[in-house]
Amino acid sequence: MKIPKTLKRHCPHCKKHTEHTVSQAKKKGAGSVHTQSQSSYSRLRLRGSWRGAGNQGRFSRPPIGSRKMSGKKLTKKTDFRYTCKVCGKQHTQSQGKRAKKVEII
Ligand SMILES: [Zn+2]
Repeated sequence: MKIPKTLKRHCPHCKKHTEHTVSQAKKKGAGSVHTQSQSSYSRLRLRGSWRGAGNQGRFSRPPIGSRKMSGKKLTKKTDFRYTCKVCGKQHTQSQGKRAKKVEII
């Protein structure tokens, strides 16, 4: 996917079409995942690794990779940020489009 560096878009602040510069949002990596978040806590409790030894009579389960649809999608949704040249405010795109490679030209 190719997108020009500047394009005319509607600015909700200026309430009219103005020139915008396009930038991509920083990609979220493994460092942004919180290991002690609410969801992972409940997952620990469900799986029985919360306390005690063994798995409390539950059968062992295959690793997450084989039962969840993990790593199946080959493309990522774009996450563009548009900065208005008039007021300097930044706004996001409402709906990302799937693309393998993004080029800002
Ligand atoms: Zn503006």
